[in-house]
Amino acid sequence: MSKGICGACMKRCPVNAITKDGHDKAKCRMKAYGDAAKELATSYGGDGKQTAGCALCQTNVPCEFRNPNKAVVRV
Ligand code: SF4
Repeated sequence: MSKGICGACMKRCPVNAITKDGHDKAKCRMKAYGDAAKELATSYGGDGKQTAGCALCQTNVPCEFRNPNKAVVRV
């Protein structure tokens, strides 16, 4: 939501981890992997807060394959 007007990603999230206030990464992580991803990341010395989510919010949205804010150049 670069301009805060689209919101397609918010509708795609099954656990409401994305709101106008931001991205609740703990809720996101728990949806996809529970504590397993956090434990794996920390076991390798990583940051347990930086794990992947389910990615539904990145599919079937206007910015999935292109930047919808970028002007279309016709030739
Ligand atoms: S990755 Fe999944 S759980 Fe996380 S914000 Fe996106 S849709 Fe929601």
